[in-house]
Amino acid sequence: MLVTVMGLVIAERNTGENDRFIDILTAEYGVIEVCVKGAQKITGKNNSSTQLFAYSKFCIRKRNDRFYLNSSEPERVFFKLRLDMKKLALASYFAEISRYCVTTGQSAKDAMSLLLNCLHFLSEDLRSCEFLKSVFELRFMSEIGMLPQLIGCRDCYKYEADEMYFMVDRACLICGDDFEYKGYEENYYHIRLTKTVLHTLRFICLSDMNRLFNFKIGEESQRLLNEITEKYILAHLSRSFKTLDFYKQICEEETMT
Ligand SMILES: [Zn+2]
Repeated sequence: MLVTVMGLVIAERNTGENDRFIDILTAEYGVIEVCVKGAQKITGKNNSSTQLFAYSKFCIRKRNDRFYLNSSEPERVFFKLRLDMKKLALASYFAEISRYCVTTGQSAKDAMSLLLNCLHFLSEDLRSCEFLKSVFELRFMSEIGMLPQLIGCRDCYKYEADEMYFMVDRACLICGDDFEYKGYEENYYHIRLTKTVLHTLRFICLSDMNRLFNFKIGEESQRLLNEITEKYILAHLSRSFKTLDFYKQICEEETMT
């Protein structure tokens, strides 16, 4: 059976002499593993369309529950990502999260559209790495059904109080009064929000995809936002990511020079 599908290459592996496996993220079938026969010898049309971060039209043959590449045509190759180590590391982190969370056979239209948008803004230098990281982390979690409760305080339902906290591990908001009443303390997971950051959290989770990247945020708010979104994704996926460690190492080296 031949299937034609648009997909983004999010991982590649060489196996044996000539064959290569690529994982592609598709809207219809989630992440699928495709075998590219004789890949390393091909220098023609299939080459750029099957490399990491290529968004291509794939014609795939399905045989015994395995997928084999028949032909492919590149639609958009995010080649500029390869020219910048920090961007490449961040894109790889997005890809690793997608690969871990999206399974085969599950539709992934919104997750894919989010990832494509992030790669576009990243490769064209339209938003900072920090901005895109926080948007991706939180919105991705929302798209896969792990939306935090941001409507109001979990106890008194207040939409906005003078003081609001985000409880990362419980994925909810709590007002300052209830926070104190319950005897909670500020700690790694209990983070005090500013109004700006609260609005931004809501915006990232709930705005339309075509408006998602249309906001500005100051440096200090961005820092707090990044702390929250990173803790949120790591806590709720209960694991670490090598690509994230690598990205952070690059950021650290950047600040030292
Ligand atoms: Zn309350």
